[in-house]
Amino acid sequence: MQRLPEPFRIKMVEPIKVTTKIERTKYLKDAGYNPFLLRSEHIYIDLLTDSGTGSMSHNQWGALMMGDEAYAGSRSFYKMQKAVADIFDLNNMIPTHQGRGAEQVLFPTLNEYLKIENPVYISNYHFDTTAAHVELSGARAINCVVSNALNTTTYYKWKGNMDIKKLKATIKKEGAKNIAAIITTITCNNSGGQPVSMDNIKEIYKVAKQNKILVVMDSARCFENAYFIKQRDAKYKNKTIPAIVKEMFKNTDIMTMSSKKDAIVNIGGFVAFRNLSKLFALAQARCVPYEGFVTYGGLAGRDMEALAVGLHEGMDEDYLQYRIAQVQYLGEKLRENGVPVQYPIGGHAVFVDAKKMLSHIPVTQFPAHALACELYKESGVRGVEIGSLLMGRDPVTKEQKPSDFEFLRLTIPRRTYTNDHMDYIAKSLIKLNKNAKRIRGVEFTYEPETLRHFLAKFKPLK
Ligand SMILES: *Cc1c(COP(=O)(O)O)cnc(C)c1O
Repeated sequence: MQRLPEPFRIKMVEPIKVTTKIERTKYLKDAGYNPFLLRSEHIYIDLLTDSGTGSMSHNQWGALMMGDEAYAGSRSFYKMQKAVADIFDLNNMIPTHQGRGAEQVLFPTLNEYLKIENPVYISNYHFDTTAAHVELSGARAINCVVSNALNTTTYYKWKGNMDIKKLKATIKKEGAKNIAAIITTITCNNSGGQPVSMDNIKEIYKVAKQNKILVVMDSARCFENAYFIKQRDAKYKNKTIPAIVKEMFKNTDIMTMSSKKDAIVNIGGFVAFRNLSKLFALAQARCVPYEGFVTYGGLAGRDMEALAVGLHEGMDEDYLQYRIAQVQYLGEKLRENGVPVQYPIGGHAVFVDAKKMLSHIPVTQFPAHALACELYKESGVRGVEIGSLLMGRDPVTKEQKPSDFEFLRLTIPRRTYTNDHMDYIAKSLIKLNKNAKRIRGVEFTYEPETLRHFLAKFKPLK
């Protein structure tokens, strides 16, 4: 892939500061060895997430000034509604404060609407907040990602795909009438920001319809997914990104979107339905007490303006080429220097395979989390664990759920860091890899019950 230099120039800068290793050692200890609990001012390059950390364009900043802050019927709501309808062809939209807002509005409503006693959701891979909201709604979450995704070293174009055989078997085992929905996560965050092919998207929808099951598209990175389809599926080589996106979304009934990702805003999200007016009305009713009135859903009018602009900008092909190539550049550099990474490189992040890199640390001592701590201490770069720690415990048995991966995720914010920053990150990690055997695991000193990774505290093992 051709690496495109940044297709923008920088109009405003935010200084970041390099700290010393002695300072960072103290900051990390004070944060209970959990990078989530560090202060941002103590971080040099922040790769915790690409969520809400992108840089808005001058068009988005300009749009902020157009915000209509009316409590009800805001002009900005109608702009956002039009953008969603134009791009995705989904007519019934509810804004929410972010992706998980959409999830807390949708899943309990869906369970109520379908009247299933013990509902089950099947996904290629439930994102962590998605699994949490499925479980909080009293349902179970089952993942059916292709087994190719689990082997980080073999090249496979579509490591986000649903294993259709597994999907069919799961439907049969659980009973079609007990499946509340099939959730297609595009791109598939947890398998490494990996794309789902158009053929797979269509196949999932077909299986769902044969079994009278609704499909939800978890769409945080749907434009990056569309770009991968254009790159990797010859049938789409000459199609525009908006056309590919339209075709993808023909294969869903509902979408949730954390707009903090591909819509390049700092806050915002939505849930949208194709018709389904009864379900939509129930969701609106649930939105009011939790997120706010149905024409703002926890967002300011100005947020909805920036979101509407960002949805279109996120589909710009020059931007997407630069974006994905920057992530690949970092990933390839690590790979060439012997750092084991999920391959091919995903769309929004490089996933370092800590199970391979730190094979001397058992998964019960969270190797990828230990690596995140070490990387911060050595370089001031903050990454995040995607593995056993994130996976958490079974809500019923309280046992650690087995995790398919132990990843350190280096998540690249959009339009925020330069390719020079990528070189610094690569250099730091390559150095750590040379002394990997010196890194030790961690154990809990405090473990919260839900979404434990955010607030947990640890101590390093001797
Ligand atoms: C980020 C994300 C969410 C949740 O969105 P928030 O805006 O963080 O609440 C849901 N699904 C996927 C795939 C995500 O990446």
